[in-house]
Amino acid sequence: MSHMEKLFELLENATSQFHAVLETKKQLTAQGFEELHLKDNWKLEKGGKYLLDHHGSTIFAFVIGEEFEAEDGFRIAAAHGDFPGFRIKPNAEMEVGGYRQLNTETYGGVNLASWLDRPLSVAGRVVLKSDDVFKPEVRLIDLKRPVLLIPNIAIHMNREMNKGTELRKQVEMLPVYSTASEELSKEAFLECIAKELGVEASDILDYELNIYNADKPSMVGLTEEFVCAPRLDNLTSAQALITGIADGTRKKGLNMMVVFDHEEIGSRSKQGACSTLLPHLLEKIYLSLGLTGIDFKNALEDSLLMSVDVSHAYHPNYGAKYDLTNRHVLNQGFAIKAACDQSYATDSETIAIIQQICEKEGIAYKKFLKHSDSPGGGTLGAIASAMLPIRTADIGVPLWAMHSSRETMGAKDYEALVAFMTAYYKL
Ligand SMILES: [Zn+2]
Repeated sequence: MSHMEKLFELLENATSQFHAVLETKKQLTAQGFEELHLKDNWKLEKGGKYLLDHHGSTIFAFVIGEEFEAEDGFRIAAAHGDFPGFRIKPNAEMEVGGYRQLNTETYGGVNLASWLDRPLSVAGRVVLKSDDVFKPEVRLIDLKRPVLLIPNIAIHMNREMNKGTELRKQVEMLPVYSTASEELSKEAFLECIAKELGVEASDILDYELNIYNADKPSMVGLTEEFVCAPRLDNLTSAQALITGIADGTRKKGLNMMVVFDHEEIGSRSKQGACSTLLPHLLEKIYLSLGLTGIDFKNALEDSLLMSVDVSHAYHPNYGAKYDLTNRHVLNQGFAIKAACDQSYATDSETIAIIQQICEKEGIAYKKFLKHSDSPGGGTLGAIASAMLPIRTADIGVPLWAMHSSRETMGAKDYEALVAFMTAYYKL
């Protein structure tokens, strides 16, 4: 399977943060990674490949080099598996004006207009009654077929539409799943979820269900040089990390990848990059190898963290929004993101390391900086490096329309990112 085919498969299957973890686990298990549990004592071996699932929505994987020495340090890369969109509230079903609708809340910075008139489906996790009250049964679900729609209004009823129209999350953005009728149960949607799981609706205690764009990914452009798909932010990075760590052949030190949850809402949670789990986990690995806490702390100095998340591609219709000299046209390579306010954690030393890897391996890259009058966003690099103080850089593929329900990237930029991640885990 080509790198692009693998990415397309992940884009179609990782329809919630839980499915991002599941799909990552499937790929790594097929590559010989062995699952560990946090509550166990670990017997780790040089040359061993391991993974750890943290509460179903964050996943770590690591490889201990065959010639591992304590002072060699670790090479980590971190991405995220969550994406902006809608979550279904409890007691969601409503009848309004002859239609059945769902009550929702938004997750992350949603470009609301991009969700109108799309075929929408539902994926996430459902929690069921169990004999042990402290261990409810958790089941993943993906309806796969489009069951919801958020219809726009006709332009005839809002002639000012193209001058900018306010969309309120609790009003214009509620999805429709059916027309109303006497025959339709008041809990028809919940019953559909229960049926899909083969349980009774009364067995369902709670759920975390995403509404996702069920559009398929596609290649676009005269020579198919663009990839247009839902969830490029940040499954492009997750897949590049999986491919990179599986193909990485570094014999010294420790290679690690993480796909975190909760980046889109600030990373401050037990599954987010602001958790102390990453340093705890690294220390546990060192102790499990018969080393000491001091050995672990000594290894920080020569270690590296790549925070891998999408960047902004130069858009020809909005040229004034971009930096004067550091703009990134699609298909020029992956982006190295920098900002002196440390919204990107990159510094000149890590940039130089990345540039030297790229020059050695013939990989295309471009430096991205923001327009100085536009504050822009940040990502998990600065947060993770505050919890684990090692040299850090922010990199990723540039996109058009970040946080739209469909985003666009350059096919060559993705190939460059995969090549870089493989080199990072190899050299
Ligand atoms: Zn992102």
